[in-house]
Amino acid sequence: MEKKEIVIIGGGFAGISLARQLSNEKGVQVTLVDKNNYNFFPPLLYQVATGFLEPSNISYPFRKMFHGVRNVRFRMGELQRIQPGDNRVVLSTGVLDYDYLVLATGTGSNYFGIENIRKHALPMKSIDDAIELRNTLLLKMEEATRASDQSDREKMARVVIAGGGPTGVEVAGMLAEMRMNILEKDYPELRDWEFKIYLADAAPVLLTPMDPKSQRYTYETLTKMGVEVKLDKQVKDYIDDTVIFADGETIPTRLMIWTAGVTSQVFEGLPEDSFGRGRRLVVDAFNRVQGTHNIFAIGDTCIQLTDPNFPNGHPQLAQPAIQQGRNLARNFKAMLKNRPLKPFSYRDRGSMAIIGRSKAVMETPRPKLRLVGWFAWVTWLFVHLFSLINHRNRITTMYNWTVAYFSKDQSLRMIIRPSRDSSKQSDSESSDIRKTE
Ligand SMILES: Cc1cc2nc3c(=O)[nH]c(=O)nc-3n(C[C@H](O)[C@H](O)[C@H](O)COP(=O)(O)OP(=O)(O)OC[C@H]3O[C@@H](n4cnc5c(N)ncnc54)[C@H](O)[C@@H]3O)c2cc1C
Repeated sequence: MEKKEIVIIGGGFAGISLARQLSNEKGVQVTLVDKNNYNFFPPLLYQVATGFLEPSNISYPFRKMFHGVRNVRFRMGELQRIQPGDNRVVLSTGVLDYDYLVLATGTGSNYFGIENIRKHALPMKSIDDAIELRNTLLLKMEEATRASDQSDREKMARVVIAGGGPTGVEVAGMLAEMRMNILEKDYPELRDWEFKIYLADAAPVLLTPMDPKSQRYTYETLTKMGVEVKLDKQVKDYIDDTVIFADGETIPTRLMIWTAGVTSQVFEGLPEDSFGRGRRLVVDAFNRVQGTHNIFAIGDTCIQLTDPNFPNGHPQLAQPAIQQGRNLARNFKAMLKNRPLKPFSYRDRGSMAIIGRSKAVMETPRPKLRLVGWFAWVTWLFVHLFSLINHRNRITTMYNWTVAYFSKDQSLRMIIRPSRDSSKQSDSESSDIRKTE
């Protein structure tokens, strides 16, 4: 029997879950495509950005991941265009033909068309972003030690985090811990400075989908840690090192971290009506993209309105992505045997967010449970540790967390940047080096 060629674009939670389930499946040949040569774990990006974990603790090379798996190949490249009529995708590194195409490309930051924010704020979506944030944070602290001008000092002593979802809350909490435990030791020159951390959101609450009690606990805990939480505050612009809110209030700062929204990529070649809310690809109950017959989408990049328990689509979280990958693998196997396909139904495992040391919130629907504080924090640690891709990453992360717990510190605050002059490299070479640093 001739093998079916399955091309998966994107090796995040969804793509890897699918590729792993299809490993060594006789009837299929899988090509996994990603713009990076590694898989990474977004929920811990903020710990890389603040120097508590190394990038290698939360990432792993695709080629090594599939050692010994004969039917899965890896191709590094970025999807540029789809030619559905020819069953072909055009990548930045060549073309690939497929019998089935699966889009698992996740989302990118949404700046809501505000160009100054896109250019000057720092996002938190990738390992590159986390390294850039870490370097920027450390460079700005070094700069601060030399600042003499009063207005410069004011801008340097403020950080604004836009977005009160789990990422914004986690970054704000981590920066507050660093201010308490590390700042004075690392930068004795700045002992007299009054550092301020602002967390702003357009919504009236933090962690919007969670229970009001968890929202209140998060707000109160962050406030006690010295974070100034600004709710009902929509960021309108970021001009001349000043964050401007829709109500006219301004905060001068040289560092704005943007975690306020996500959007999917639009790929040329798909029918226009395939794209729904947030540019997510509309899929049927089997994750087939609307208006196509052999193109599927899983994870954050798709929206599925057929699950009776989630009529507005699933939350953009790791679990729906993993479970959709698994279900699609089961359906590909069923297709090979001409068996009926299984519609996707999401099993909600709940949600959680860490705020700081011994402080977190978690909720599960079945059993109905709501925890805050130390128990939620320990659960968060274990859930995230065991969700890492392999034992190596779990052991190194556990080691770094143990050191950080007992010392209230870490020693990963090095400013490491590529040293080669990028103008001497070809375009594709230079972008590859930046992305795999
Ligand atoms: C900072 C942060 C913290 C988070 N915390 C949590 C949390 O605590 N719990 C939780 O459940 N969820 C969390 N999430 C959300 C969770 O990470 C996503 O829901 C999940 O990653 C979605 O999986 P995915 O496979 O759809 O996309 P992703 O995991 O984003 O994977 C997409 C993959 O596609 C690749 N790619 C993208 N475009 C292209 C292209 N054009 N060509 C080739 N490759 C491409 C990317 O390199 C990436 O490897 C967090 C997200 C972020 C950013």
